[in-house]
Amino acid sequence: MPLQREIKTNQWKKISLATLLTGLVTLSVLLTLTILLVASYQSKKKSLIDTTLALNYTSASKMSQTIDSLFKSMRSSLQYSASVFSNLNSMNADDVFSKLELMRHSSNYFNSIAVVDETGLIRNVSPKFIGSAGKYITTEASKTALALKKPYLSKPFITLTTKRLIVFMSEPIYDKEGIYRGYIGGSIYLQENNILNMIFGSNPTDNIGSYFYIVGSDGHALFHKYKNRIGEDISANQVVRKLIQGQNGYEQMVNLRGEALLAGYVNVPENGWGVVVVSPISVVYEQLNRHIKTILLYTLLPFALLMLVVIALAHRLARPFVSLADLVSKIGREKVDLPAAKQHWNREADLLSKAIRYALTDIQKQTDQLTHDAMTDPLTGLTNRRTLEATLAKWIVDQPSFSIIMMDLDRFKAINDTYGHQVGDEVLKHFADIMTSCVRPGDVCCRFGGEEFIALIANADAEEAYLVAERIHNMLEQKVNPVGQPITVSQGIAQYSSILDSVEELIHLADQALYKAKESGRNRTIIADMRLSAY
Ligand code: GH3
Ligand code: MG
Ligand code: MG
Repeated sequence: MPLQREIKTNQWKKISLATLLTGLVTLSVLLTLTILLVASYQSKKKSLIDTTLALNYTSASKMSQTIDSLFKSMRSSLQYSASVFSNLNSMNADDVFSKLELMRHSSNYFNSIAVVDETGLIRNVSPKFIGSAGKYITTEASKTALALKKPYLSKPFITLTTKRLIVFMSEPIYDKEGIYRGYIGGSIYLQENNILNMIFGSNPTDNIGSYFYIVGSDGHALFHKYKNRIGEDISANQVVRKLIQGQNGYEQMVNLRGEALLAGYVNVPENGWGVVVVSPISVVYEQLNRHIKTILLYTLLPFALLMLVVIALAHRLARPFVSLADLVSKIGREKVDLPAAKQHWNREADLLSKAIRYALTDIQKQTDQLTHDAMTDPLTGLTNRRTLEATLAKWIVDQPSFSIIMMDLDRFKAINDTYGHQVGDEVLKHFADIMTSCVRPGDVCCRFGGEEFIALIANADAEEAYLVAERIHNMLEQKVNPVGQPITVSQGIAQYSSILDSVEELIHLADQALYKAKESGRNRTIIADMRLSAY
């Protein structure tokens, strides 16, 4: 009992097998899904970053090649033009202008072209509206170009007169005698329509947010997504620094405005410029998010289905154990009905339920045997005195009238003495058989003790019981018995009626009648006189 109480009070803390299995399945499915997502996220992130870096590097290389060949063409175009002006001394201003116009329109390389003589005088310029023809050169770049007497490419600078941000490219002019006569110079207006945005487009951004810019050899922006940044010194940018040092490559970086970018950067050999192609890292994260959403879309339903199937299986697996546990917990508390024998697909469940069935059947058999033993007389197989009393207690409630016959074998001691105790036992069994064969199915035969027996005759008055007693008497007389000598019995009959107070009184009456039968010579049956009931 203390054990059972303990089981009850602790029951709320225990987890059922089905809940446990469901929990485990849910946990493992969620963990699997998480691991899958994390692994997929990480590998995809790495591959996206690698791919973007490689793509940006490839784009930067291609653009670098384009600019390289563009500048080679521009240089050879200027060289040719310089040769055209070898007789500059003998040319008038109109001749110079018409040649410059032709050059500018035929190639579109430069926003403006000018010819300067060895004195620094601007002989003419195309287009005309620039208005510097006939004036002397003023900018540092022009002076450098004039003094250098060699091919020259300037850094970006702002012109004094027109306040334009330009880069300037020049080629020296020599006459037929090889005497230096000045130079021809072309300018690219960096912040206006120029050859660079003719080639690369005016909006250097693609639809996923990647963009490119071109830097000069001194780290100034020559071409940029944001026009207002053209000319800005961006040499502090880590990638631009590497370009200035002549390196090419790709890397994840943070720009001057703190934005994380994936950059590919390549030098242009011809002019020392650099091309940088960058993609914001947010582009990668957007693609990653889309990737994870797609994975979730394709995996959530199968995972949910898998979880449902496994939970259903877990419940089926747990079911036999749950019912076995319920069954076993009932043992000792209430009557246990064995469930119908069932095969289980799970080996352990099958073995366990078979073992428990065997054990319960065995316990049931033993209990039945014990109950039977407690109710029966072992020698004759008749009910014993305890059962008789219990039956009588029931009968006086259930039946309005019944009778009892109390019997005592005559001179039984002598049988024992003559033939031995064992033969005596055989006689007792012999009598029990006769008694049983003479009563109806509803009647009860009982060994009351020693050689005394009582028959309970259901729904019968004394006369009817008398008939039964006579049947027993006659059969005992007629049937061959173990001693081979006549055996007789004395019988006293008492009928139960409402005037009797108790079972004891009924037995006492029968006993009195039996006593009388013994007194009056044995081997007879006497019905109790109800008037004698009071004792
Ligand atoms: P009466 O006619 O007056 O009944 O004489 P009786 O000898 O039958 O009566 P008594 O009470 O003197 O003797 C009963 C004997 O029954 C005594 C006892 O040894 C014997 N007896 C009681 N129980 C058993 C038993 O289980 N087996 C055998 N063999 N004998 C038993
Ligand atoms: Mg006796
Ligand atoms: Mg006797």
